Amino acid sequence: MDEFIKQLDHNLDYISHEIIDGKCYITVASNRKEVICPFCGFPSSKTHSVYRKTFQDLPILGNKVFIILHNRKMFCNNPDCSHTTFAERFDFISYKAKKTRRLEDEIVRMSINCSSVAASKALKENVVDIGKSTVCNLLKKRNTGC
Ligand SMILES: [Zn+2]
Repeated sequence: MDEFIKQLDHNLDYISHEIIDGKCYITVASNRKEVICPFCGFPSSKTHSVYRKTFQDLPILGNKVFIILHNRKMFCNNPDCSHTTFAERFDFISYKAKKTRRLEDEIVRMSINCSSVAASKALKENVVDIGKSTVCNLLKKRNTGC
């Protein structure tokens, strides 16, 4: 399972997983020694707190995937920075998004040639829990219409 997680981001370590009703919940944590502050670019290795961030990713063997990330809030040590703390961020997901970028790509690919109602129904079968308005919003965000 760690290999699957490393494909998403080599900065993540697999901790555990469980499968409940066709949904795979995978718990992961960052292995970065230092995290770069997004506001000033200074590295920090001082953790303020850890919180759970849950998001969906591409399915594995027909199981929908939910990743539970032990996301860190870090202190910024730069006295000139506008922020004293910041949350660790990753390239595979937009800040505050609930789905990985590659899952969003898949949703757009599957939705582009059908109605958002048909798309959300097909996606819900075995790819991702999603409503038609989220499908619409994603297509609009990618400028592909709805
Ligand atoms: Zn900073």
